[in-house]
Amino acid sequence: MKEKQYPQMIGNKFYSEDDLIPISALADFTFCERRAALHFIERIWEDNVFTAEGTILHERVDDASASEVRGNVRIARSVWLRSLVLGLVGKADVVEFHKTELGGVKLEGASGLWLPFPVEYKRGYLRPERSFEIQLCAQALCLEEMLGGNIPSGAIFYGKTRRRMDVVFDKALRTETEEAAKKVHELIESGITPKAEYSAKCKKCSLLELCLPKASSKASSYLAKAMEKE
Ligand code: SF4
Repeated sequence: MKEKQYPQMIGNKFYSEDDLIPISALADFTFCERRAALHFIERIWEDNVFTAEGTILHERVDDASASEVRGNVRIARSVWLRSLVLGLVGKADVVEFHKTELGGVKLEGASGLWLPFPVEYKRGYLRPERSFEIQLCAQALCLEEMLGGNIPSGAIFYGKTRRRMDVVFDKALRTETEEAAKKVHELIESGITPKAEYSAKCKKCSLLELCLPKASSKASSYLAKAMEKE
């Protein structure tokens, strides 16, 4: 696959290679801003059953042969991605290239045009989850910058049910993804970790034991009450 020229930007700047942040940080940030800060400012990592299963699923994808052809679909695995416009770097689990008459890209060693279609692997059951959609859309935006052209959709594959959900990269999702990238850069540059706030999603978070959101919420409300009295 041949990397194309990056688009020219007017009145804006490209991020340098040193300032790129992982695409996965966007999913973290959308799930919980504090989680993104604990990972990417404080460098705290901890597996729980959810992330461990996810890691195994990703390793299986990584282990598979680098690429294969199935009819009119060429499948590339563990594809490195980068966007200097959004300041992102990461890997797509799978990028399928679907043969098309219009709007695709040229691939080395293959005739015709091919439409990229990123696929992200997740554990669990099929469900809509905005943080995953943003992560997938970020992969598509990286591919568009690297290859040119427009990528209309991709899919999230859920390991438990072995089913995949198509995701359309519409204007709203693209804007949300661009905003998330900008905000994560700002968060990391600020070096400030937001306070913990306990909510239902904390039960699924691998950082629960380290973040201690219940204890921290109680401490802040105790301090707030003490200050009110004074
Ligand atoms: S435990 Fe809750 S507040 Fe703490 S990082 Fe996870 S989701 Fe965020």
